[in-house]
Amino acid sequence: MAYRDNTKVVHIGDRVIGGGNPILIQSMTNTRTEDVKATVEQIHRLEAAGCDIIRCTCPTEEAARAIGEIRKQISIPLVADIHFDYKMAIAAMENGADKIRINPGNIGSKERIAAVVSCAKERNIPIRVGVNSGSLEKDLVEKYHGVTAEGLVESAIDKIGIIEDLGYDNMVVSIKSSNVMLCVKAHELLAKQCSYPLHVGITEAGTVYGGNIKSSVGLGIILNEGIGDTIRVSLSGDPVEEIKTAKMILRTLDIRKGGIEVIACPTCGRTRIDLIGLANKVETLVQNYDLNIKVAVMGCAVNGPGEAKEADIGIAGGDGEGLLIKHGEIIRKIPEDQLLSVLKEELDNYR
Ligand code: SF4
Repeated sequence: MAYRDNTKVVHIGDRVIGGGNPILIQSMTNTRTEDVKATVEQIHRLEAAGCDIIRCTCPTEEAARAIGEIRKQISIPLVADIHFDYKMAIAAMENGADKIRINPGNIGSKERIAAVVSCAKERNIPIRVGVNSGSLEKDLVEKYHGVTAEGLVESAIDKIGIIEDLGYDNMVVSIKSSNVMLCVKAHELLAKQCSYPLHVGITEAGTVYGGNIKSSVGLGIILNEGIGDTIRVSLSGDPVEEIKTAKMILRTLDIRKGGIEVIACPTCGRTRIDLIGLANKVETLVQNYDLNIKVAVMGCAVNGPGEAKEADIGIAGGDGEGLLIKHGEIIRKIPEDQLLSVLKEELDNYR
């Protein structure tokens, strides 16, 4: 049985995580939260891409007020991200945040943490306790001779204890590091000691290229070990890319079904069409369909149909014309410049 089957069930707005519920995908806006219009627009794009929960930073009173406005205009739960100022955590909750993310280590005195917990308790708002390798306490760095998985876990357990001692257990926990294997080890250790749902991500993973690889390796191992109730792929790029990658990670691991999987040939000396451009266009096109099928985009008619056998629909390039293929069977020839439009038609009418 996976660790995630036994975590505590936590409600975030109208979504439920933990206790074996489906793993949800999160992202974070990179607009100024105070700019309600831009933030709402970005959240709508993320919702359309498949984002389940969104987080916005809340560094000012104006941002806290904006949380309320944004909340009214979106249909996924909104998490307020707070650092340092406990008053912002309270203001975000008063304005309708569905969850808050804090690092109790930088919120300050026990009284301030108690004030935040008391406000969360009144409204039954979950608190995500987040620990990052970049802000690990000095004494733990010294104790473990550097930033280690053991130190991160001890820090997280300590923070959980602070909230529990205040009589609250509506919590989600995250420990993040940009060091992939350190992050993996920390999750393995934490999952054995913690029954709260875990939000998993590789922090500051990098650009779309490097970040996708680091996130895929890290999240792939952690999720495959049965750990993790929500995920975020962190990328220095358009957050919509985070959602696309997160969905593909879940599908690749067979954790989430649905959505079109695109298979494309790597191209070779036989390729006579712009296969790479076509495959990219197909990948964008399929985002608009909620079909649980495979689509193959192959470079040539020699091996294309055979290699596309596994796919429900395939298109193969040629010299001036291409082929429409279904389950490895050639259906008909198509002029090369119509390959994409014919595929779209097939998807529109797919039963
Ligand atoms: S499908 Fe054709 S073009 Fe693509 S790699 Fe195979 S042989 Fe080459």
